[in-house]
Order: sequence, then structure tokens, then C-alpha cells
Amino acid sequence: MPNSPTPTHCPYCALQCGMNLTPAPDGTVEVGERADFPVNRGALCGKGRTAPAVLSSRVRLTSPLVRTGGTLVPATWDEALDRIAGGLARTRSEHGPDACGVFGGGGLTNEKAYTLGKFARIVLGTSQIDYNGRFCMSSAAAGGIKAFGLDRGLPFPLEDIPKSGCVILVGSNPAETMPPALRFFTELKENGGTLIVIDPRRTRTAEQADLHLMPRPGTDLALALGLLHLVVAQGRVDEEYVRERTVGWEDARAAAMAHWPEYVERITGVPVPQLRETVRLFCEPESAMVLTARGPEQQSKGTDTVSAWINLCLATGRAGRPYSGYGCLTGQGNGQGGREHGQKADQLPGYRKLDDPAARAHVAEVWGVDPDTLPGPGRSAYELLDALGTDIRSLLLMGSNPVVSAPRAAHIEEHIKSLDFLAVCDVVLSETAALADVVLPVTQWAEETGTTTNLEGRVLLRRKAISPPDGIRSDLEVLHELADRLGVEKGFPTDPEEVFEELRRASAGGPADYSGITYRRLAEENGVFWPCPTEDTAAEPGPTGNTTAEPGPTGNTTAEPGPTGDSAAQLRPTGNTTVQPHPTGDTTAEPGPTGNTAAQPHPTADTTAQPRPAGDTAAHPGTPRLFLDRFAHPDGRARFVPVSHRAVAEEPDAEYPVLLTTGRVVAQYQSGAQTRRVDELNAAAPGPFVELHPRLAERLGAAEGDPVAVVSRRGRAVAPARITLGIRPDTVFMPFHWYGEGRANTLTNPALDPTSRMPEFKACAVRVEAVERQ
Ligand code: SF4
Repeated sequence: MPNSPTPTHCPYCALQCGMNLTPAPDGTVEVGERADFPVNRGALCGKGRTAPAVLSSRVRLTSPLVRTGGTLVPATWDEALDRIAGGLARTRSEHGPDACGVFGGGGLTNEKAYTLGKFARIVLGTSQIDYNGRFCMSSAAAGGIKAFGLDRGLPFPLEDIPKSGCVILVGSNPAETMPPALRFFTELKENGGTLIVIDPRRTRTAEQADLHLMPRPGTDLALALGLLHLVVAQGRVDEEYVRERTVGWEDARAAAMAHWPEYVERITGVPVPQLRETVRLFCEPESAMVLTARGPEQQSKGTDTVSAWINLCLATGRAGRPYSGYGCLTGQGNGQGGREHGQKADQLPGYRKLDDPAARAHVAEVWGVDPDTLPGPGRSAYELLDALGTDIRSLLLMGSNPVVSAPRAAHIEEHIKSLDFLAVCDVVLSETAALADVVLPVTQWAEETGTTTNLEGRVLLRRKAISPPDGIRSDLEVLHELADRLGVEKGFPTDPEEVFEELRRASAGGPADYSGITYRRLAEENGVFWPCPTEDTAAEPGPTGNTTAEPGPTGNTTAEPGPTGDSAAQLRPTGNTTVQPHPTGDTTAEPGPTGNTAAQPHPTADTTAQPRPAGDTAAHPGTPRLFLDRFAHPDGRARFVPVSHRAVAEEPDAEYPVLLTTGRVVAQYQSGAQTRRVDELNAAAPGPFVELHPRLAERLGAAEGDPVAVVSRRGRAVAPARITLGIRPDTVFMPFHWYGEGRANTLTNPALDPTSRMPEFKACAVRVEAVERQ
């Protein structure tokens, strides 16, 4: 009798493609198509297709390792856990709780991220926790919160993209990073929409574009300002929208008017006619959107850059309208959920702020602790890593490999080596795990149940399909055991659903409210978009598994916005309207900013629009589309944030005359800890390379495949030359998946964005040198 397939999701990127897993008689697991998941409709990239290879990899860790006499040797679980508890306890007693650091990952499930944050704050009592998602989408999050009062990567489903009139993709290359998503852009063009790609490289995505702008790395902010200048100059501002739905236009307008197109051309290298054409294509259709990714975000001015693009969307009346607005294409598998539930330095579960007394009181009550005992905000990811071995003496690390992925990686590697104690939980002996005092082998995606939240804010259920090999435990079991050994015997369940039930309570009433989401609903509805503040669903799920109907071609719909734009499925961040019942059943009315009230009936079965009697456990279908009626600031209006151009932290000069930008290739994922261990992926992308323009190659005397050295103020990396006309002559590109002499992050600049604390991965000054072949 064949095993039945288990529907689940890919372990890698933020698309979280659906797949079926079927155990084979030989103990391996086969990946099958799962066409019912609307994001990928069965399609998978090579990484997803080969993901099971890591489950049975010969390099899989199957026993705890402890360092003995300078070498990692197998140990029992008790021995390893005792060593970790002892190491952390010693640091805490000798140097205080903040000398213990915790570093998490954007690939951890919501349950793990939640538990890790709780562990740090109530077991260790440390403020020093952050995670590698800081390196991913923190600038977009900061920009979104400033403008909209809330950050959710995409405030609309991916399925809205093909229905838009124009999409500007800024610094995003889904053809390599999430190939199944490319179909949304292909369909956009088939529907008559326009795709504009902004990227210093002619990527596979850029090849699909109707218009490709190639700015100098680090100048996306100036580019957005130049476009806004033209919008104003050409009289394309949506004055009514600006008046009714926004605040702060005059200052943003004044800032943009200081950025003349010719000035912007000098900064960015993008010709003025291309700027004009971009404005025309973006402004003429009824709907249009801007989607950013790491290109504009991983800069020392990433937050301002995101603000500039949002300003463009606001001035043209795009944000919060059907098939329109601003969104961020998050990168890591649980990059969205990972930042919502407490592993970020400044946040508590539910996307609450750690320095908000009401948030502290709420979460402390769920955790059964005194809110005064909760530590305050800690260091951001790079600052935390940079403090290792000095202020921070011991580190517990889960789901990350900073020796490869952190900026200025050789420096960070030295700091990690100087720790008094390092414990790493991982599935393989990553480059960071190899430096640890204790390594714990933990379960992987297919071996455990848990939830993730994809780039759309869609909460998903990953299901266990197979049992882990003997000798392996889950991260939740690890945290339970460590908490127990450190004197906290209760509050750290090992059952993921039990953790999720607690997470629901902790998130209730917060911006990322999961309180209406259950494992049962996730299984039945194929995912639920947050916020979702009540549990039962009264309306029939729509084709996407969500009860919110899509807007019709005019932008109005049966189940969503009424004629005035009010919507049953809108975000009600304060929870105090009739549209969205309060979790307690309170249905206090409050008009929206346009004067439209929540009590306005909707023409279809969207029952969330109706006032409910007190005490009724009102249904909520989840919220696929945010902001259609009001933004999440208390007055319901979006904020313009005035910003101005500033240079990259490290401009080219005589010694370092070229800009380095970094990124990904289709066959590898992030630090490569998993994908570099898959033969098929390794064969497709066996190592790093330096992409450079023929003119630069000629100056070096380098031919295709010749080794070249890229040198920055922080170090040197060597990799074969890949010569292409598809890159600016003043720019070189390296993918960052590898360790060793080709480690791109040896070179990158940790200059931090003042708001998001995002390092400037995307632009630093380098020189390129020819290297003699050995
Ligand atoms: Fe889908 Fe991303 Fe997995 Fe590829 S890596 S299958 S795009 S989720």
C-alpha cells in the first residue's frame, strides 16, 4: 500500500511553494506537485525539487558534538545540553545576563522564533537577541511602518500582480531568487501591463522587462526622487488622494523638487528620457505598483530609499488601492513570520514593540512573568555579532550561518572565535557550527510540523511527513531542555501546536494578530492572511482559500470595498471598528477617515462587515489586502516621509574605483549551508564568480574564467571572471553563497542604516586585480 502524500511547503525562500511529500520504501522522501496552492500552482525551482536531499544527506548531523581537546566529538544529548546550560549559566553569573547572546534565523518556524525570543527574555533574561532577518527586509519593514503604520511584506496577494497596469521591480530578481513567482510578471505582460525593472545588472528578470533601468548601485533613492520630481512637474499628482488619505505631502514634495532629472541622471547614470518613460508607464494605467527587494533595501540608507519609493506610490494615489501600491518581496522562508514573534531585538510577539508598556504587560501576562522583568531592546544583528567576544561572551545560535552571511565576514568570524562559549543548532556542520563548543543536530522541515508566514503575510502549515533519523531532536525540545536546566521548568512546550496556541494569545490585539488562526483553519483553508483576530470563518473560502473576494476590474468588488472604498477585509489596527470585530466581541463603531463607516453593509456574504452582538465569536476570514480603506496609523492616513539623496557610505576613489554589489544565484540559497550539500545544485552552481563588464576585463587583461581578485578595505576574495555586457562598467557582482577565498562577504561594508540597522551589502568600493593562474 503506497504512502499517501503529505501536503506541505518548501523549506527555502519566502514564496513557500506548496509541495507534496511521499515517503519512499528506502526511507527517502519524494517531492510531488501540489497544484492547489495558489502561489506556485505546483511549480518548484530546483532548490525546492531537491530539498529532500538534505534530509538524507551523508553530511547530516545525527549526534550532538562537543569540543574536546580542540576537536568536535560525538556526545550524548545530556552531556551536550548540560554543557550548553553550564556555559550560558556561567556567563550570566560572571558577566550578567546581557553577556549571553541569542541569534536566530528567518528560516525558523513561527513557533521556534516565538520560543527563542521567550527563552532569551525570560530564561536568560538577556536583551541581546536578534536574527539574520535583520539583513533581509528590515529597511522595508521600517519604511512600511513609517508610511503605513504597519509592515507586511506584500499588503496584497501575489495574484494581484498580473492584474496591475504597471509594476516597477526595484532591485529584485525573482527569476533567480524565486522562479515560480516569475509567472506573475509574465501574466502581467500577457494582460497588457508593463514591467519595469531597476537593477544595475541585466538579470534574467530584467531580460523580461519592457523597460530596464541600470542605475549605479546605491542610487535607488535618488532615482525615486527624480521620478517623483517628474510626477509633480508633469501634473500627475493625485491631489484628491493626497488630501484625503495622506499627511506630510508638502515636505516630501519640496524634497523631490530639489532633485532635478538632470541631477538625478548624473547621480544614477539613468538617462532622463528613461526617467520620463518610467513616469509615463507608471502613471497612465489605472493601477500600478512598486515592489522592492534587497537591492534598494540593503543600503546604509535603505529605509529612506524605501520611503522614497513609497512617496512615489502615495503621490500617485497607488497605495491602498486595488492592484496597486508598495510591497516588499521578502527573501527568507519565514522572513515575514520570523520578524513578527519576538526574535527581533526590539519586538515582542504579534509585532509589538518591546518598549511599549502595554505590549510588555500583555505578553508578560501570557508568559506568566512580571513585565518589569522583561529586558528592553537589544543590539541589532550586526552590532550583536560585532560585540561577540567583548560585551557578549556566550552565544546560542539557531538557523543561521553568519560566518558566510554577515557583512565583513572575516571580522565577524574572528569575533565568533573569541567567544567564551558558542552553541549552534543546525542540520549540518555549517561554517559557523564548525567553530562551536557544542553543536546540536536538529530536525528539518519535513520532519516536524510548524507554521511559516510567506511574503504575502499568508500563514501556512508545514506538516511533518517523515520521522527524523535517530539521535535528532527539534529546536523546541532543545529550548525546553535548556530552560529546564536553567531553572524554568514550565512554559516551554515541545508540541508545535501547543506553542502556536500560546503565540495566538500573545499576538492577540497586536499588529500581526494571529489569534483567529488555528492549525485546523490552516489545514482547511490552505493558509490564512494576518491580521485575523477571530477564529471561526462564517463565509465560504474563496479560490485562494480566503474569504475575501478579489476586487473587480473597476477596483470595487462584491466582497471587498464598497463604493466608498470601505472594506470588510481591511486592516483595523486598533480593532475598534464595526467592520472588524474586536477579539472580545466589542463592536464599537468608528468612522473611517473618509467618513465611511464600518457599519456600511457589503453586497455579498462577507459577514465581517456586519456588526455583531456582544459576545458573538465573530468570524474573520483573514486579511489578504491591507489599507484599501485606511492605513494603520491612528488617523487612518499614510505618512509621506521627506527624504533626500545621499551617497553610499563608501564611494569609489582612486584606490578602490569600482562598486561591488552582491546577490544570489538560482541554484543556491543564502549561506549555502543546505544547498551546497545537494549534488545537483552544486553541479549547477559549483562556486562563486566575479561578474564584470568587458571594458573592465580588458583593462585587467582577464579572459572568461580567469581568476580575479576583488579587494575592499575589509579583505580580498578571489573567483573566476564571468564577463558580460549585462552589468555596468563601473560595477562588479559576486554571489554570496560560499566560504573560503571566494567569500563575497569578506568584502562587504557593515555601514548601518540609522533606522533599520541594515548593513550596506549592496554597494561598497573595491578594486579588481588580475590573478596569476596557479
Ligand atoms: Fe519555491 Fe522558493 Fe522553494 Fe524554490 S526555493 S521551490 S521558489 S519556495
